[in-house]
Amino acid sequence: MSDQITVGATAVMTSLVGLTLLARWWVRPEPSGRHRAPTLVLLRCPTSALDTEAAFCRAEGRVTVHARTRITKQFVCTECRSSNPDPLTADEARQEAS
Ligand SMILES: [Zn+2]
Repeated sequence: MSDQITVGATAVMTSLVGLTLLARWWVRPEPSGRHRAPTLVLLRCPTSALDTEAAFCRAEGRVTVHARTRITKQFVCTECRSSNPDPLTADEARQEAS
């Protein structure tokens, strides 16, 4: 009698575990969230979209990569974030003066 109850309980528990796994697979949600979204190759990193140029940084005293911002027209060092005079506007000012 006890053996039959054990076998029956084992069969019921095994079927419940199987049904649980099947139910979890059945109602599994679709992948969501930005980290799982497909990446767009067309979009570039914001810093790589900037207009960059090598120039002399007055704060560091050496030549570093500078980025030219589009809205405020600043010429900013990408390493120390200090603003330096833009060589393009300096050249334009020289051409207008001469
Ligand atoms: Zn710098």
